[in-house]
Amino acid sequence: MREQAPRVRFAPSPTGYMHVGGLRTALFNWLFARNQGGVFILRFEDTDQARVIEDAAASIMDSLQWLGLDWDEGPRAGGAHGPYWQSQRLESYQKHAETLLEQGRIYRDWTPPQDLEAMRKAAQKEKRPFKVDRSQLKTDGSPDEPHVLRFAIDQSHDPAWDDVVYGRQSRAGSELDDFVCLKSDGWPTYNFANVVDDHLMDISHVLRGDEFLSSTPKFLQLYAAFGWQTPSFVHVPPVHGPDKTKLSKRHGALGALEYRDWGYLPGALINFLATLGWNDGTTQEIFTPAELINRFSLERIQKSPAVFDDGRLDWINGHHLRALTLDELVRRAEGFWPQSAREASMDYKRQVLTLVQERLKYLGELPELTWFFFTDPAEYPEQLDMDNARQWLPRVLETIESSDFSEADLEERLRGLVAELDVKTGELFKVIRISITGQTAAPGLFETMHALGSETTRRRLQTVLSRAREVA
Ligand code: GLU
Repeated sequence: MREQAPRVRFAPSPTGYMHVGGLRTALFNWLFARNQGGVFILRFEDTDQARVIEDAAASIMDSLQWLGLDWDEGPRAGGAHGPYWQSQRLESYQKHAETLLEQGRIYRDWTPPQDLEAMRKAAQKEKRPFKVDRSQLKTDGSPDEPHVLRFAIDQSHDPAWDDVVYGRQSRAGSELDDFVCLKSDGWPTYNFANVVDDHLMDISHVLRGDEFLSSTPKFLQLYAAFGWQTPSFVHVPPVHGPDKTKLSKRHGALGALEYRDWGYLPGALINFLATLGWNDGTTQEIFTPAELINRFSLERIQKSPAVFDDGRLDWINGHHLRALTLDELVRRAEGFWPQSAREASMDYKRQVLTLVQERLKYLGELPELTWFFFTDPAEYPEQLDMDNARQWLPRVLETIESSDFSEADLEERLRGLVAELDVKTGELFKVIRISITGQTAAPGLFETMHALGSETTRRRLQTVLSRAREVA
């Protein structure tokens, strides 16, 4: 057994943006490494050159960095086990393939691709799973002619392992396929490269999506052929949409950088992702990253698929937003204000943030929640009763005329007016609220009036009163 601290890796293929499932795999690796005082490695698996997208790797790294998932070894970080791009390790794969070739555990295969395709189709037609039959392959030819290198499965070796999440796993060697290690262009397959790299990078725990569960027996045969010690395997169940199907954008799932641009906090997204299929054994749902590092354990990763719920993300983000100090909230809100807030003073914006912090789910909501602090309403919802406005607003204006516009004074005066007019509090306040905000829901009435100030409040009340008189 290894004595050293764990070494784990996140090994994305740079073929697209960083989706929720991938982010969670990266996070679990990072939390485990940080909890154990281990090493977190980032490795790009870019051997499927046709599928590589130019900016994907940069966007994956930006996503991880934004979330604070710093890696100890990898691109942008360096390290003693590099390069950390598989495309820069081709020689190593070739060398390792040759070793097994010499030992007879890898053989050359000149079968034309169309013949293989025909075998695959035949299997499909007969409704049996396709598995290459070594005796039907063209295994003689000249090394100068295009060919692939295949691993010779040992049919008598039934690989088995204790998966940290899924428990005891085993497969009959006779069910396994002689798989390609090097393609005819000399590039490795994922199947071959991941094993060679995990060994050379001294990975102790392979934590990845469970779509690789079924390939792991093949990998175990490869480890055995090389005489290498196997890492621990930790396969994590998928994240599903609420309808139990594979998670997609259709379910509202976004990439990490899109969440950033909508105004989600990195700590909140981490909280959300960590609790997708993991819990600390209590009912606690809100965690800081430091708490997660402290409590994380592989044993509490759940076996059943996690369900993505963007309402829950909003709820968690709201908690994290409310936990911010006002200074921090002001800093984070920069860039999310409505256009019309450009001229407003910092003090005023601080005041506005204090009023909406309680209701804010993500910072992208700021314009819709605060626009009326910066612009006079031009339209009013139909809930504004013009008869009431015509009758009551002159009295409201009169009542607040000499107010110092402190919240307490406004409250006292307006509650006094409710009694004087003998109307329902809610009815009177509704007319005032809609008149000054153009909305039926807004922060507290006196706080809002106080923030807007005497001049703006009275101008807005006047505007509505004039309209009410016009329509009379
Ligand atoms: N490159 C693989 C992927 O992006 C990673 C598999 C692994 O972690 O071994 O899905």
